[in-house]
Amino acid sequence: MKYIFVTGGVVSSLGKGLAAASIGTLLEHRNLKVTLQKFDPYLNVDPGTMSPFQHGEVYVLDDGAETDLDLGHYERFTNCVLTKFNNLTSGQVFENVIKRERRGGYLGKTVQFIPHVTDEIKKRLNDVTERNSDCDVIITEIGGTVGDIEGHLFLEALRQFSLEVGRENVCFIHVTLLPLIRAAGEIKTKPTQQSVAKLREIGIQPDIIICRTEHDLDEDNRRKIAMFCNVESKNVVAFRDVAHTIYECPLDLRTDKIDRLVVDRLGIDSPTPELEEWEEFVANIINPLHEVNVAVVGKYIELQDAYKSIYESLTHAGAAHKTKVNVVRVDSETVSADTAAGILGKVDGILIPGGFGDRGIEGMIETARYARENGIPFFGICLGMQVATIDYARNVCGLENANSTEFDKNSPHPVICLQEEQKGIKDMGATMRLGSCESIILAGTRAAEIYDNVDSIRERHRHRYEFNPDYRDQIQDAGLVISSVSADEGLVEIVELPSHPYFVAAQFHPEFRSRPTKPHPLFSSFVKAALDAKSAVPA
Ligand code: GLN
Repeated sequence: MKYIFVTGGVVSSLGKGLAAASIGTLLEHRNLKVTLQKFDPYLNVDPGTMSPFQHGEVYVLDDGAETDLDLGHYERFTNCVLTKFNNLTSGQVFENVIKRERRGGYLGKTVQFIPHVTDEIKKRLNDVTERNSDCDVIITEIGGTVGDIEGHLFLEALRQFSLEVGRENVCFIHVTLLPLIRAAGEIKTKPTQQSVAKLREIGIQPDIIICRTEHDLDEDNRRKIAMFCNVESKNVVAFRDVAHTIYECPLDLRTDKIDRLVVDRLGIDSPTPELEEWEEFVANIINPLHEVNVAVVGKYIELQDAYKSIYESLTHAGAAHKTKVNVVRVDSETVSADTAAGILGKVDGILIPGGFGDRGIEGMIETARYARENGIPFFGICLGMQVATIDYARNVCGLENANSTEFDKNSPHPVICLQEEQKGIKDMGATMRLGSCESIILAGTRAAEIYDNVDSIRERHRHRYEFNPDYRDQIQDAGLVISSVSADEGLVEIVELPSHPYFVAAQFHPEFRSRPTKPHPLFSSFVKAALDAKSAVPA
């Protein structure tokens, strides 16, 4: 097995995750099998309990693990299917060490950061190696910035690990920033030099330095970085700000032949990558033939990263239709019966994403009503399906004050509620329906058409509340069709309105399964519906 470790220096938000994912893309196109993982030095056991304001989106894997959004990049940029073992946090490391200590597993020894905590980190590396024995390369991104106290143990573990598996099997890549001091008109290499010095202090000599820069990296600066950081100048790679889309990143990194440097360093023989399909996908994003405006109506709307996978899925679907999808971000708290037409009247499609807690819920219900009554293509995801159901119950079935028990415990018509067996469980996380499960698609429905008439699908879930089976018949009789139910318990998975141009809502999260060149069918059909709606309106 060969290993690539990606660290970051100078500042956070340098696109380390994208760099790691892009290297994955390039290596896969060299016919290598890769997997990626993330080490996060924070103390949460997983990001599942963190607010999106803290951490952006929680990305959910097939096995139900709630992980860092960088794992979303990994799955989108490569073909790897990740598991809970691909995201390790300090919280998990310490939890394991302390549990073992309590069991007497250290046989009376003093339990110490080195070797016991570092051993625990290396154990995970070995575990992941074993679980991915069919892979050629494991790429590991270390969260945080070199020099942070909390990342130190991870770096020490990597230093030890690289000696144990043989330094020739390991490639250390350090991602840094080259700031431009505008007044002086100069690009500065000093922060890079100092952050590499910090890494070398720990005993890690990077093999490749990736420099994030808004501008080109000239030969002088390349040589300077090479000399001060003790690498060859060809191993100093520029990572420019991409002009249009993050999917340009692998193409940009290829300019300085990063994939070549990596395979040479690791002694792997592999052909130069051909990326035609990827290039075509990027070209479709850069030069679209059409354009649609889609409102995403949610409560974390001001946050760039809160609905990351949804925005990416819209991009994938847009590219497939050569369509630029402009996202109009709408804070659901601003939507009411009075404002809906003003805010949503001109968009070509409306999407309500997932969410928790009651803030902004009434605005979402109003949004679903507006889309339903005005024939605007509508796509509800998770909470989006729940609010669409609440609207239907209230405004079509006449069930006054219908609600989800998440928002109104005393609702006379709890059309969305907890399942019996979930009640009474207090531990956050324990009651969640998480991960991939199978659902049956009902023949003859729009869902069947969208999914190409397959009998069943597997989609990822992350929610607590369900469509209340007691109201199924009443709501169905009033015209809302349940077109998919879970294979095991018959829980409602998709609802749709046949009388509407496009009104589809899913209890699961299709955004976690969309891939650049394989857009998710629900997103693809939604974008197509928005496009059709737009062309139906005379300009
Ligand atoms: N809050 C809702 C639930 O727990 C929806 C969750 C979501 O949208 N991810 O069921």
